Amino acid sequence: MKYTELGRSGLHVSKLCFGALTIGPLQRNLSPEEGSQVLLRALELGVNFIDTAELYETYHHIRLALQRFPWRERVVVATKSYAYTREGMLQSLERAQREMGLDTIPIFLLHEQESSHTLRGHWPALEVLWEAKQAGVVQAVGISTHHVQAVQAATAIPEIEIISPLINMTGIGIQGGTREEMLKAIAQAAQAGKGIYAMKPLGGGHLLGDWSKALDYLLQIDAIHSIAVGMKSTAEVESNVAFFQGRRDLPSPEPVSRRLHIDDWCTGCGACAAACPNGVLEIREGRAAVAVRNQCVFCAYCGAACPEFAIKVI
Ligand code: SF4
Ligand code: SF4
Repeated sequence: MKYTELGRSGLHVSKLCFGALTIGPLQRNLSPEEGSQVLLRALELGVNFIDTAELYETYHHIRLALQRFPWRERVVVATKSYAYTREGMLQSLERAQREMGLDTIPIFLLHEQESSHTLRGHWPALEVLWEAKQAGVVQAVGISTHHVQAVQAATAIPEIEIISPLINMTGIGIQGGTREEMLKAIAQAAQAGKGIYAMKPLGGGHLLGDWSKALDYLLQIDAIHSIAVGMKSTAEVESNVAFFQGRRDLPSPEPVSRRLHIDDWCTGCGACAAACPNGVLEIREGRAAVAVRNQCVFCAYCGAACPEFAIKVI
């Protein structure tokens, strides 16, 4: 497995990052025990980078995997929070430490930033993260985003060290610009010393049919230091590790067709549509409905926003 420094953060990570959204309740819904086995296989095969978020509810899966891995100090965990107040971020930090059993969180990101405006709105939470870095509780601070403008805004802030942008071969899911504009923003961020790890390399599953082409597309971009791939079985881990080690004679992991499921008890409150970064949902005849089907990247943010547990990725 190839390892690279994430920008100038001092953190060295594997080119393949384990995207943990897929094992949690918003997607495959593996139990902490089952999920930890999948994670552990990745760690045993040399993947030392795990991407999660408070929203994904996978802290217990990660804690179990780390407890069973003899070289846990080599593992770099990145997590994210939507908190925008001091109090909210302090709670997020404490929860991440407690539930993952980590005194130090290697990477802490503001989850899903959109622009310089949202960054300003989250400033009190960012200040908590910078203080936590000073205190040795966090090693590097950053943002995740689907938006070109947020990558540009974060590049201009020296204390933001890590950016996790949405980028893939077809550009599906990129907000506020084209694939080329996102690539340009990423290149400028990397030039400024930011650590870059890409999310949604397979467009949330849309590009699984073109698995090897989609991953090779990102692997040839120097500005991208690591690529977060969602995995949910040991077979999928083994295929991805072999691919990242240079094997090209492998069948792609079994395509999993994903879809949004909306239950009958949806009240039509609209919280899911407001939470969707891609404008996929609308309220039609008093219920949530898919307005633009081919723009869904199965990020599950809608499910997390639903007060009735009425929408999910299956
Ligand atoms: S509909 Fe839901 S899963 Fe699809 S992009 Fe929007 S928030 Fe993500
Ligand atoms: S948030 Fe849940 S209840 Fe509200 S419209 Fe969406 S699916 Fe329906």
